[in-house]
Amino acid sequence: MAQIRIENLRKEFGSFTAVQSSTFTVEDGEFFMLLGPSGCGKTTTLRMMAGLELPTSGQIYLGGEEVSQRPASQRDIAFVFQMFALYPHMNVRKNIAYPLVSQGLPRDQVRRKVGEVAEILGITGLLDRPVGGLSGGDRQRVALGRAIVREPKAFFMDEPMGALDAEFREHMAGELRALHDRMGATTVYVTHDQLEAMQMGDKIVVMNHGVIEQFGVPQDIYNWPATRFVGSFIGSPPMNFLEFEGVAEKGAVEVTMAGLAMPVPRILEGAAGGLTLGVRPEHVSLDDAAALRGKVLAAEYLGTTQIVTFETAFGPVKARVSSAQHIPPGGFTGLRLDPRNITLFERANGRALL
Ligand code: ATP
Repeated sequence: MAQIRIENLRKEFGSFTAVQSSTFTVEDGEFFMLLGPSGCGKTTTLRMMAGLELPTSGQIYLGGEEVSQRPASQRDIAFVFQMFALYPHMNVRKNIAYPLVSQGLPRDQVRRKVGEVAEILGITGLLDRPVGGLSGGDRQRVALGRAIVREPKAFFMDEPMGALDAEFREHMAGELRALHDRMGATTVYVTHDQLEAMQMGDKIVVMNHGVIEQFGVPQDIYNWPATRFVGSFIGSPPMNFLEFEGVAEKGAVEVTMAGLAMPVPRILEGAAGGLTLGVRPEHVSLDDAAALRGKVLAAEYLGTTQIVTFETAFGPVKARVSSAQHIPPGGFTGLRLDPRNITLFERANGRALL
């Protein structure tokens, strides 16, 4: 049982607050992502969860037990950092075996477990090689091997694939997820890469400036961003934002500026004044009958789809449409924003009217 519960966790470094007041729960067996831009406080959060940094205030519970002030060595966890130090004088096999040998496990069991882990990670052929001459990617795999061989209560990983090239990263992401599904160990993973977070995570916490912007499953975070920041940080290209003065009522919005009015089923709260309409490029379609006019500025070919940028009265708007659609530059068209997939934000605080 390795549920991890965080309550009002806060970290100050002198007068600077790196983590404001975080509360969330990582369920037993979950692959949990801490996502956000550089400096948002994700590493500090992870280090507090792992016991490498003590919180200024707040509590951490591991498997129901409070461990807030306990050092990492007393938490039965394993971590994998980007710059994981391997033992340079040992070969790959000995590096992976080290945690088991120091636990006093019998030799044949150590050999079997190391063999299993090496196979999972695709490094069986490297077992007798010294670690000194390995590539960054292989060193990372050895580091992972050493962390998983011990089968700890929980794994903490800080950008473990940061040093890998893109193709191998994607391969490792799939491997890591499959490995997790087989082992079922609670994993907390720090990344600034939203695609990696979406691909691997059961749940995601999105952080910005030491504050949790949203916490949920990847689909909800993508489809229903709770803040404008989340809409812009997640998605490639990011969500379109159209600023306007208008009135939002339950179920509908009236955009006074361009005489647009549309049903938006997801609005549950009313608001008036400065509003921001958020819509993802795949929910913008070309429709000559639509009131919102757009002039084609550029098209970016992506294989089966293309991203077309339009100039509108609200600024640039991007649409993801089929590459089969011929869109001449400079032409005008109507743009339809799918009302079922619109999020409205209050401009003043960036919060969604959900
Ligand atoms: P990155 O991906 O760049 O590591 P991050 O989201 O993981 O970013 P943190 O490493 O948690 O961010 O750092 C959050 C903020 O706290 C940063 O502004 C950082 O400079 C500051 N910080 C982190 N550790 C310390 C420390 N020991 N002393 C002072 N400030 C620190």
